[in-house]
Amino acid sequence: MQTLAEYEVLAEAAHGHLCAGQILGLRMALYGVELLGIEDPTGADRKRLVTYVEIDRCATDAIPIVTGCRLGKRALKFRDFGKVAATFWDLARDRGVRVVARESAKQRAAELYPEISNRNRQQMRAYREMADEELFAHAWVRVAIGPEDLPGYKAPRVVCARCGEGVSFKREVVVGSETLCRSCAGESYYTVVG
Ligand SMILES: [Zn+2]
Ligand SMILES: [Zn+2]
Repeated sequence: MQTLAEYEVLAEAAHGHLCAGQILGLRMALYGVELLGIEDPTGADRKRLVTYVEIDRCATDAIPIVTGCRLGKRALKFRDFGKVAATFWDLARDRGVRVVARESAKQRAAELYPEISNRNRQQMRAYREMADEELFAHAWVRVAIGPEDLPGYKAPRVVCARCGEGVSFKREVVVGSETLCRSCAGESYYTVVG
C-alpha cells in the first residue's frame, strides 16, 4: 500500500482535479481494503477484489486508484443508489464489507476547521485527518455475484437474430425462439435518429 499523499497524486491525475470527494473515495477504499485484510490490492492480491460503487460522482473515481478494480476488468460494478458508499468483496475469502460516508462528516469538517471558508478545502483537510470511524460506517455484507459477473467469466459469443451485432459473455436474451441482444429485446437506452 502507498500513503494517502501518494494516492492523492494518482487520483488527481486520473480525475482531473483533487477535491474532497477524491480524498473521501481514497479513504473509503483504504478502509474497505484494510477491513478485509487485503495487503496488496493492485499487486499480489489484484484478482481478489470486486468493488460495487453506489454513486457516479468524484469519490467513485478515486476508489479504483486504491483497489485496482476497473470496469474493463469486470471488477467494478455501478449500482446507482445515489449514496457515497461502496462494497468491497473479497473473492478469496467470500466475504464483503460495505462502507458508507457518514452524513455527519461534512458538519464535522466545518466544526474542525471553521477558519477555512472554502468548503472544498475545509473538507479536504478534515477528510485527510478524521478517524475512519468518524468518516464512515461499515457493515459486513453478503453479495450474490453470478458467475457471469465474475472477472474471468467466459461464454460463447452469439450474434443477435435481429440487429446482427455480436454479444459476449452471455448477455443475450432468448425471446421465444429468437436469441436477441438486450437492446433488441427491449432494454435499449437509445433510439436511432439518423
Ligand atoms: Zn472531484
Ligand atoms: Zn440486437
